[in-house]
Amino acid sequence: MTIIDGHVHTPYCPHGTGAAMEEYVKEAERKGINTLVFTEHAPLPEGFTDPVPEKDSAMRREDVRAYLDEGARLREKYAGRVDVRCGFEVDYIEGFENDTRRFLEEHREAAAHSILSVHFVKAGGSWFCLDYSADSFEEKAREVGVDQLYKAYGMAMEKAAEKPFGEVNPPVLGHINLIHKFRRRIRPETDPVNWASILEKAAQSGYVLDFNHAGIRKPEYRETYPEPWMVEEAQRLGLKLQTGSDAHSPEDVGSGFIPE
Ligand SMILES: [Zn+2]
Ligand SMILES: [Zn+2]
Repeated sequence: MTIIDGHVHTPYCPHGTGAAMEEYVKEAERKGINTLVFTEHAPLPEGFTDPVPEKDSAMRREDVRAYLDEGARLREKYAGRVDVRCGFEVDYIEGFENDTRRFLEEHREAAAHSILSVHFVKAGGSWFCLDYSADSFEEKAREVGVDQLYKAYGMAMEKAAEKPFGEVNPPVLGHINLIHKFRRRIRPETDPVNWASILEKAAQSGYVLDFNHAGIRKPEYRETYPEPWMVEEAQRLGLKLQTGSDAHSPEDVGSGFIPE
């Protein structure tokens, strides 16, 4: 059986840890993971201002070359031991599709190993990073209504599920229900998102789903993304799922799906 960790971050992530990319590969080898895919947050599109206070949601544009070069070096060095690939976690941000498409076209090889995710939604007239912190989520939910946040996320995810970037679209759809990250603390009375429609669109588009195990580590969620009933529905629709840890430090490689 091939074991894959298809969602791994690196020191190029400014909100992660400084550990070298090679440390992640060593950890993967130690844990018997056959394939490791680096998916660093791609630089945010030109003209989009990172809404988080530290402005550290994504890698810097000037680091892209070094990141891809290090991925290629590790791929060669660990050949036959760990299948190392290098892609990006790309944000779907409505209105910024042209710049995002240009980036994917410039990095076609990496695009083929990438994930498309939604972290930013427009709510109350400004952009908001929905997974930044429980406090900021609660504050924003008070301001615009938690229902509104969920709806904005659901709409963005429906669009992402339609593969808006055509032939350069990332093949994997990231943590589709990330909006649930803080739901043990704050949630709408009834979930307004049409998850069945998102799953159907993803299936029609031929996506693989990021079976993201980071949620288990989040105290206000404690499930996988997608959550169990969605996994069942996805499988019924013929969607494939790809395990991922969303590790931002080496010890989290394989976390949640590889026994310690
Ligand atoms: Zn991150
Ligand atoms: Zn990630």
